[in-house]
Amino acid sequence: MLSQLYGQKGISLMGVSKAVLGEPAIAEAMIQGEVSFIADSRLENIQKMREAGITTKFVLLRTPLSQAKAIVQSVDISLNTEIETVKKLSFYAKALNKNHKVILMIEMGDLREGILPDDLFQFVRETLSLSHIEIVGIGCNLACYGGVEPDDKNMHALSMLADGLKKEFNMSLDVISGGNSANYEWYKSAKHIGKINNLRVGESILLGCETLNRKAIPGLHTGAFKLIAEVIESKKKPSLPFGTIGQDAFGNINGFKDRGDRKRAIIALGRQDIQVSGLTSNDKLEILGASSDHIILDCENHNVQVGDEVGFSMNYGALLSAMNSPFIRKTFVDSNDKVLV
Ligand SMILES: *Cc1c(COP(=O)(O)O)cnc(C)c1O
Repeated sequence: MLSQLYGQKGISLMGVSKAVLGEPAIAEAMIQGEVSFIADSRLENIQKMREAGITTKFVLLRTPLSQAKAIVQSVDISLNTEIETVKKLSFYAKALNKNHKVILMIEMGDLREGILPDDLFQFVRETLSLSHIEIVGIGCNLACYGGVEPDDKNMHALSMLADGLKKEFNMSLDVISGGNSANYEWYKSAKHIGKINNLRVGESILLGCETLNRKAIPGLHTGAFKLIAEVIESKKKPSLPFGTIGQDAFGNINGFKDRGDRKRAIIALGRQDIQVSGLTSNDKLEILGASSDHIILDCENHNVQVGDEVGFSMNYGALLSAMNSPFIRKTFVDSNDKVLV
């Protein structure tokens, strides 16, 4: 179990639920798997989980200024990088007579969100002057925009910043959050993890892999999600389109290889539903292409009939798109594929 693996060196986990849109059943499974927090990038997902009765500490990974009031109402801890936003959170926390906790995200080179290290002390000084706001930690995010790998150097730098804050402001930080599912290799190889005591992990929990090379993590399930689609046409057809060739439905002109007549199937799913490039057929069927509502499969060496169901595994992008499609029904099953109510 992931929380035991990371727990060996004193790292707690935030289970990140954004890819499954804060699906309460999955958040509950993460809590049973002993994550210490549930974190999501969307306030609406956190509200949904709260309304479903999930009780845990909720963390908001992305902090929109315009939602400050609702954030104070529904979220225990938010990640922040802009003093304007923290001021607004303080304003509403005071008005609602609540304390709001923040983790300050620091730019460690990946160039997505983060306060520049040189600006950190000033940021903290201003934040400490605000009422009803408590700084509970710092963190950084890597391997998202710039593809920067978590390593001893940037993790050490984050630890040093935590030390620096302690010295300068005499503050103790509960959470030093070193990153996400991309931190696995660093964690496995690091002799000293320094002050890092938390990771925010989505993909590793959901799909069982780390995210620098998408390698499976030993002992984890990599097949927890399965996409099933219905075959709506099955025919032998030429592999080359015939007629004058112009643009396809998405404005591309495609090249085709002549492989002669091939057995092909069409399934009732398309680019409107799913990021097709993130699908892998569980039956080794080749995906030839897709339009908005159809995916075309080569099934030359397979017996695929109209009405059959074909299964796919999904990468993170495909899972995210599937969860977002209102046309894909979500069903929860136990380890024997028995549907849970
Ligand atoms: C999405 C997100 C994560 C989780 O990333 P995974 O690769 O799914 O582990 C962690 N931190 C932040 C700030 C995020 O937005």
